[in-house]
Amino acid sequence: MKTQLAKKVSRPKSTSSRAPLKKAKTKFKVHDGFYRLVAENLEDYAIFTTDIKGMVSSWNLSAEKLLGYTESEMVGENIYIIFSPKDREQETLKKEFAKVAHAGRAISEGFHYRKDKSAFWASCLIFPFAATEINEEGYTCIIRDLTNQKELEQRKEDFINIASHELKTPMTSIKIFASIIENQAKKAGDDILSEFIAKLNTQIDGLGELVNRLLDVSQLQSGKLELKRRLFNFNDLAEEVIVAMQQYAKDNEIVYVRKESKNLMINGDKELISQILVNLLSNALKYSQAKGKIIFSLKKDKDKIEVCVQDFGIDISVTDHEKIFQRFYRTEAVRRKRISGVGLGLYIVREIVNGHGGKIWVESVKNDGSTFFFTLPIK
Ligand code: ADP
Repeated sequence: MKTQLAKKVSRPKSTSSRAPLKKAKTKFKVHDGFYRLVAENLEDYAIFTTDIKGMVSSWNLSAEKLLGYTESEMVGENIYIIFSPKDREQETLKKEFAKVAHAGRAISEGFHYRKDKSAFWASCLIFPFAATEINEEGYTCIIRDLTNQKELEQRKEDFINIASHELKTPMTSIKIFASIIENQAKKAGDDILSEFIAKLNTQIDGLGELVNRLLDVSQLQSGKLELKRRLFNFNDLAEEVIVAMQQYAKDNEIVYVRKESKNLMINGDKELISQILVNLLSNALKYSQAKGKIIFSLKKDKDKIEVCVQDFGIDISVTDHEKIFQRFYRTEAVRRKRISGVGLGLYIVREIVNGHGGKIWVESVKNDGSTFFFTLPIK
């Protein structure tokens, strides 16, 4: 069966007789047929077009399979039929169309409804559609079923919740017992045992930190980021953290560039903000791999502060600039170099920054390191 999409997505006719152009057009026609074929056969992607009001004008085979409506049922029907009642009420589609007009495309995630009223989680990409030959304008929509991904996400979240809570209690006991044994070994003058227990303690601290991170993530997921705001001196905090981090930074020097007075007071959760600084600085140390200095700079801009942590080590490609803030995402470069990490730090950092009403982003120069910026409102 030929779908409506195949019939409607046609190209303008040739008006020129120049040979190269003709050749290119023949080639394009071949491609055109190829793209039609791809559109009709894509398994997990429902592809359809609508007019500017959202009335369906074409509906591919995958759309039939995914949503349960046939082409003849859908052509001429309002696409809102596959949206939730809430989306209909809030005129979500109208807003998405407005986004397309403004940004050239709109992408969203949410529930869509099949003919049998069952719901599934999907991404929806919308971009403009123009068939010049029949003088029709509208939108192309691509709906992708994300049920499997959503389930996987849910399983990951459940695992993080269980693992973090179940590990916390035994971790605390192990730490206490290890400290008792360490003290006793010292008292008994057993140097070898003391040395082993000290090493054991370092490993336990590392594990404890990981468990705390998982706990942070599980709290963030349940929307429980509680900010204990108070007024504190940001300069003092930054200096404290830098001095502490410098002890770990044997091969790097952390340079503090302060463009403001020493009494820069801000209203925020001091512990959590300190966690942002520790995370960004330890990443800069870890990923600059002993390559020179790390520049920490601070400036005030009207009602906010802007902090910047720059290193001269591994760079981050533009395509990864957003992804590194997602849970468990690690770039190819650091995985290839086998640098340890779990990919949770920046996710937590971004949640803390957002929780304070600030912004965080990264800039990077090829082969010349990465610079992380974040802003925080002063009040
Ligand atoms: P982790 O460091 O445990 O992997 P993060 O969430 O802190 O987790 O960072 C996510 C990823 O972002 C890192 O794995 C790395 O690929 C990249 N990244 C973070 N900071 C830097 C940096 N300063 N330089 C280069 N890459 C970085």
